[in-house]
Amino acid sequence: MKKLDTICVQGGYKPKSGEPRVVPIVQSTTYYYEKAGEMADLFDLKSEGYFYTRLANPTVDAFEKKLAELDGGVLGIATASGMSATLLAILNIAGAGDNLVVSRAIYGGSYNLFSVTLPKYGIECRFFDPDDCAEDIEKLVDDKTKVIFAETIANPTIVVLDFEKLANIAKKHKVLFMVDNTLVTPVLCRPLDFGANVVIYSSSKYLDGHAVALGGCIIDGGNFDFKSTNRYEEFLRPDESYHGLVYADLGKTAFGVKCRVQMMRDLGAIMSPENAFLTNLGMETLALRMERHCQNAKKVAEFLSNHPKVEWVLHPSLTDNKYHALANKYMPNGQGGMMSFGVKGGCEKASKFMEGLEMIAIVTHVADSRSCVLHPASTTHRQLSSADLEAIGIKDNLVRLSVGIENSDDIIDDLKRALDRV
Ligand SMILES: *Cc1c(COP(=O)(O)O)cnc(C)c1O
Repeated sequence: MKKLDTICVQGGYKPKSGEPRVVPIVQSTTYYYEKAGEMADLFDLKSEGYFYTRLANPTVDAFEKKLAELDGGVLGIATASGMSATLLAILNIAGAGDNLVVSRAIYGGSYNLFSVTLPKYGIECRFFDPDDCAEDIEKLVDDKTKVIFAETIANPTIVVLDFEKLANIAKKHKVLFMVDNTLVTPVLCRPLDFGANVVIYSSSKYLDGHAVALGGCIIDGGNFDFKSTNRYEEFLRPDESYHGLVYADLGKTAFGVKCRVQMMRDLGAIMSPENAFLTNLGMETLALRMERHCQNAKKVAEFLSNHPKVEWVLHPSLTDNKYHALANKYMPNGQGGMMSFGVKGGCEKASKFMEGLEMIAIVTHVADSRSCVLHPASTTHRQLSSADLEAIGIKDNLVRLSVGIENSDDIIDDLKRALDRV
């Protein structure tokens, strides 16, 4: 296998003689065939090819193949956004009457999906605290549990996933283990190497890296044997909507093929060819960018932890961080650019600090090349009282910082100036 930084550049697309060197944007909804029989074989999955862009498109395909190769998975399914990746992956295995065991430390949008929207459709979500012991988490699993879901690094609380703890529970009960790896990327950690079965991405973050294209992806690890358990009975019986196909018979690609031919067919949240092109282009520099994000974040975290106006700093690179050992075990080359810290003096001082920044912008997006900050207590979470904020682990002086790839001296200068003004 090629090294990851090589796959970032070369993976996913192999032109034949005379074809474009760079994967082109195939801006066509449909594809031409000379004979009706050729098309029929495609519908029957007897041959591989394109017939409608909702199911497959060459530009989107190149992106999916590159990311699947980076993660060591068997196939990828690109989606219109990170949220649609999570939704499609869940609906691929769960329905009314089922339940999901989900870490509380996850992206806010995903938390809403799990806590409010999915229950409306009869899918119950049982949340656990990522620091809970294995026995307590295991108690949530029963014979209707369809997935254990967590994030590799969750923001803004910067919790690092204990893969082994969850993978052991998932293996013992033959439940699918699904991991959102958005804020780490396969360059720093490959969840499939540590027991995950399906990996989810919002490609809108580091994969694109330039904040230009919304997107997501589902990676099928191909390492879950649907025939070894009765838990996923939908995989064992013929799909009448797909002329009797039994997904478990497909072996390693059962999850991914079902997700594409059934879920994507019916729900249609496919990535656009143009966004696939932009994301694929961004990924050519993913390995380089992640290296710089990690170097910068380490320096910035050290600077902040030594600053008299800073109360606390959360980044796994700091030796006194609660998750330092886990981070070294699962992502020894760095943990990305996301961190959070508390400005001494509470909510008001945190706001004042934000106003003093010149280069680092206040935006809701994270994980792209530009450094940015957000003060949840006065923006995204301003409806919540201090007590409510504490309950979800967000202090009112918490500033979320996404460290970009600018020169670290300039990032630190901007932070220093703004802190001095507080
Ligand atoms: C942003 C994000 C998502 C949602 O992705 P969108 O592309 O914005 O829909 C999901 N998970 C994580 C960890 C994220 O950071």
